[in-house]
Amino acid sequence: MALIVQKFGGTSVGTVERIEQVAEKVKKFRDGGDDIVVVVSAMSGETNRLIDLAKQISDQPVARELDVMVSTGEQVTIALLAMALIKRGVPAVSYTGNQVRILTDSAHTKARILQIDGQRIQRDIKAGRVVVVAGFQGVDEKGNITTLGRGGSDTTGVALAAALKADECQIYTDVDGVYTTDPRVVAKAQRLDKITFEEMLEMASLGSKVLQIRAVEFAGKYSVPLRVLHSFQEGPGTLITLDEEESMEQPIISGIAFNRDEAKLTIRGVPDTPGVAFKILGPISAANVEVDMIVQNVAHDNTTDFTFTVHRNDYNNALQVLQGIASEMGAREVIGDTDIAKVSIVGVGMRSHAGVASRMFEALAKENINIQMISTSEIKVSVVIEEKYLELAVRALHTAFELDAPAGNTAE
Ligand code: ADP
Ligand code: ASP
Ligand code: MG
Repeated sequence: MALIVQKFGGTSVGTVERIEQVAEKVKKFRDGGDDIVVVVSAMSGETNRLIDLAKQISDQPVARELDVMVSTGEQVTIALLAMALIKRGVPAVSYTGNQVRILTDSAHTKARILQIDGQRIQRDIKAGRVVVVAGFQGVDEKGNITTLGRGGSDTTGVALAAALKADECQIYTDVDGVYTTDPRVVAKAQRLDKITFEEMLEMASLGSKVLQIRAVEFAGKYSVPLRVLHSFQEGPGTLITLDEEESMEQPIISGIAFNRDEAKLTIRGVPDTPGVAFKILGPISAANVEVDMIVQNVAHDNTTDFTFTVHRNDYNNALQVLQGIASEMGAREVIGDTDIAKVSIVGVGMRSHAGVASRMFEALAKENINIQMISTSEIKVSVVIEEKYLELAVRALHTAFELDAPAGNTAE
């Protein structure tokens, strides 16, 4: 008998009919002899709806109160699913994050899980109950409700699986696994049977929203067997694994990630002296803005242009700070650009292959796509391009790295 944690995402519990379908599925597993803990998200669209409501009161709603409100989405679905299970004769009980006691830090809207008390859940499992836990939420030491950031129910699922020493954590969603790239953008994307934690971590942090980054971090840290599956279609899904198989057929890259969430800022004509990067990025970081890519160029006249990217939500804030720095430093000008996108190729195969980056640049050049910034690490290459070319770039790279599915073998 296995203990399985099953997480169902927003679209999988998006209607009462779907919740009934989820209950059927959970019942089947349980009838097969497994112990099941279910984690659910809010109904699809609900978290956005709640955030919009708050924004009607204030552009920057107080984070503590925002958490009190957005956590209600999951409270609805846990109760509905528990009811649907009980209706089917399956003993079930629902718990909010607070009731389980999923203890987090106090960083509202992006809290981290510190500890999970598994006792209450263990008792229910022993008593034969299916336990339904609200994803995305926790409670801090002082009893304040917290949330874990968008997509946070994935992390609840994995963290619970780790705390309960579950045999597997299954993430059920609206695609049947992790693909070489978002199947909604590239029809020829292929499902991967396996992907390493390391690669999945890069994919997630570079924009593939199929799994929240922290969920992958947690699973890697505590060796939680993790699988992504379709909620309502049978199939093997994708296993996130520790082992890196060395095979001849190992592709050079495993996947392509992208995101449209960044904006670019350039400060031009600053004196090229020691400490420039600190003078520019110090105040940016003091304003709580996280910087992603950075490029510095030296001009002939001993001045430098300094470019970096930030999350689009932080753009206005960063621009203001930068304008202040520019006048202090006597810089020539500040330029901002929000119409950018970042495309990244990811794969452990890069370690053993040379020329991967140039193959990427060649593919983009063939499509006449200008590269504005580049950054590399051991298993990824990222470029910033004009946003309007994003889909073209992803498709071109998917083909160039031979990831396209054979005809007739695609997601739809
Ligand atoms: P859920 O509500 O179940 O958590 P999400 O919308 O958060 O679902 O994640 C699933 C979505 O992730 C898919 O519908 C797909 O469009 C997107 N996605 C992005 N990149 C990938 C990828 N590489 N493989 C699979 N899905 C991806
Ligand atoms: N409901 C939350 C969100 O939409 C958490 C989740 O679905 O994982 O981000
Ligand atoms: Mg999600």
